Amino acid sequence: MSVLRPPGSRKSIASLFLLPDCDMGCAFCASEAVFDVASFAQAEELLGGLRSAGFDNLVLGGGEPFLWPHDLERLGRRARELGFLVQVGSNGLSPPPGFASLDWVDRYLLPLEAADPALHDQLRSAPGGHHRTVMARLDQLVASGKELTVGTVVTRRNLPELAAIAALLQARRAAGLNLHAWHLYRFLPVGRGGAAHGARLAVDLGLYRRAVEELRAVDLGFPVFRRDDMLRSSTVEFFWFQDGQLRVGSGAAPGGA
Ligand code: SF4
Repeated sequence: MSVLRPPGSRKSIASLFLLPDCDMGCAFCASEAVFDVASFAQAEELLGGLRSAGFDNLVLGGGEPFLWPHDLERLGRRARELGFLVQVGSNGLSPPPGFASLDWVDRYLLPLEAADPALHDQLRSAPGGHHRTVMARLDQLVASGKELTVGTVVTRRNLPELAAIAALLQARRAAGLNLHAWHLYRFLPVGRGGAAHGARLAVDLGLYRRAVEELRAVDLGFPVFRRDDMLRSSTVEFFWFQDGQLRVGSGAAPGGA
């Protein structure tokens, strides 16, 4: 499956939306429900095209990639054989046993919207509380040493929480968390969650930028990335299948956060 990468492109990370399904219903979800569940053959063929095009970093995402019905482990192992650094972007709700030590995963991407459990769970609700689940996953990752990137969708609600999240991540890192980076994504009023909650969650661009730059001005011990528009990344290209066809794009990517 051939994949075009424009000459001079800095995009080396391929983010693959394997399926739209998810076992959560986040208030800001930017994912759409309109794309296909990729078959194993489609995904495997795409990997070859991505390597030929020069991508060397792969994010397996959804929806929720651990719900993909076509053997995520086999796909991840195939990706590593091809030389990809394999990342899995999960909500952490229902990973397989031993998830923190899976040898085919180089790095996880997990979400954290607030240090305050109540606020996090307002934005990302799950039975039993999602914040508690994320904290448990961090404990498991501390124990295993597996690398992690944390993502936060910055909304009007959790903008005042960013310093507290930074302190929480610093404490976890001091306890041994192998924290690769913290990505701060500005909320966008798109997708099955975000489109309905724009009035409640939208954050002023200037306030968002100032808050993130204040964090970036301090040495937290890990990189902090400002993502004004997660759909228009200069380093990440998005891939999915729709109506049986491969779709590529930054401006209208349908996958989840
Ligand atoms: S934001 Fe992610 S975890 Fe939440 S509903 Fe959307 S795809 Fe699922």
